[in-house]
Amino acid sequence: MKAKGNKTTRQSSMISFEKAYDIVMKSAFSMGSEEVSFTDSYGRVLIQDVASDMDMPPFNKSSVDGFACRKSDLNMEITIVETIAAGQNPLKKISHGECSRIMTGAPVPSGADCVVMVEDTEILPTGKMKFNGTYSKSNISLRGEDVRKDEIVLRSGVCVRPQDIAIMASVGCISVQVSKLPVVGIVSSGDELVEPDKKPGSSQIRNSNAYQLMAQAQMTGCPTKYYGIAGDDEQTTFGIVSRAVAECDLLLLTGGVSMGDFDFVPSVLERAGIKILFSRVRVQPGKPTTFGVHPECLVFGLPGNPVSSFIQFELLVKPLIYKMMGYEWKPFTCELSMKENYKRRSGDRLGFIPVYITSEREVLPVDYHGSAHITSFSGAHGIIAIPAGKTHIEKGEIVSVRQI
Ligand code: AMP
Ligand code: MG
Repeated sequence: MKAKGNKTTRQSSMISFEKAYDIVMKSAFSMGSEEVSFTDSYGRVLIQDVASDMDMPPFNKSSVDGFACRKSDLNMEITIVETIAAGQNPLKKISHGECSRIMTGAPVPSGADCVVMVEDTEILPTGKMKFNGTYSKSNISLRGEDVRKDEIVLRSGVCVRPQDIAIMASVGCISVQVSKLPVVGIVSSGDELVEPDKKPGSSQIRNSNAYQLMAQAQMTGCPTKYYGIAGDDEQTTFGIVSRAVAECDLLLLTGGVSMGDFDFVPSVLERAGIKILFSRVRVQPGKPTTFGVHPECLVFGLPGNPVSSFIQFELLVKPLIYKMMGYEWKPFTCELSMKENYKRRSGDRLGFIPVYITSEREVLPVDYHGSAHITSFSGAHGIIAIPAGKTHIEKGEIVSVRQI
């Protein structure tokens, strides 16, 4: 096996995280659109506006169970003229001294200007209704007060959530144009790796990264394709990468991007027609993160260490996937105070620290040995950034926790 030796060039091209993010986001290409049933649109990004085909509510609607009547009659005994169930049209108009028993969601009869709640009334032996309350709201949802016909109810660029599906259902939008999903390919690289169903030999470890990346990609809703483990062998890796680049929109390789003698991934990517835009980022963990472009596929070489790979996916891959889907995704963050002092050895890179949020809503860095210590990383709620040049965070300092 031939080792490669262009470490000097790769070392000298270390860029800032902000620059790397910028390069990645500018490389995004759009996936085009397709039509799907609104029932299949959860997690998809709308490529069209959705307008309402009717007023909502479509009629003056009672918001309580009670009696529809005139406010000016509330001090008298009132004659009940009919009962209006939800889904039924009123048959009678309300005149002075009259009311209709009415259910929540039913149309309010004309002539009535309020609905009193059944709890505030009593039925007299005469069969008449008497209001016992002190004050009544109108309890009528007016036609069109929520949405007017032709009003836009969902905008292009929305990533559909369950409540948006309710909106589509209520305005009769049964199929929608959404962004196509990028197909995400995953390749593991390393002679030391065996699949999870195998018992590792004395110098081997199980491939955990590929499955973590697959799940991370699946969380964005994208289909994934797994290409297995490429050994530290240039020719085999080249074959797998060439095939994956042709079949996928985004390819994630893990491992083989460090400075080791058998880290072939960058040279293989170049041979496969991928233009490498960066291969070192001033970030911790994840310095060897590599990114390249091919006319039909964007390619990441992610670090082999599972925590580094996870964090770089969060920081660079996830926003890219969403951008390709036409969605300006932003991480959810909250400002909380540190529970303990935090100290790191070197401040030469922008750092990302996995943290827990305690039940007292304080931030506690995960106690982990390094970027291979995945069991400790498992319960982390978020990550916090520590700028280059800073090595300490004081107890009580306010930090921005980014949810992971
Ligand atoms: P590399 O980036 O190939 O230098 O790998 C860095 C470290 O991550 C090494 O300790 C590898 O054994 C480990 N590693 C690489 N790939 C994986 C993987 N797919 N699953 C778990 N650990 C890995
Ligand atoms: Mg390796």
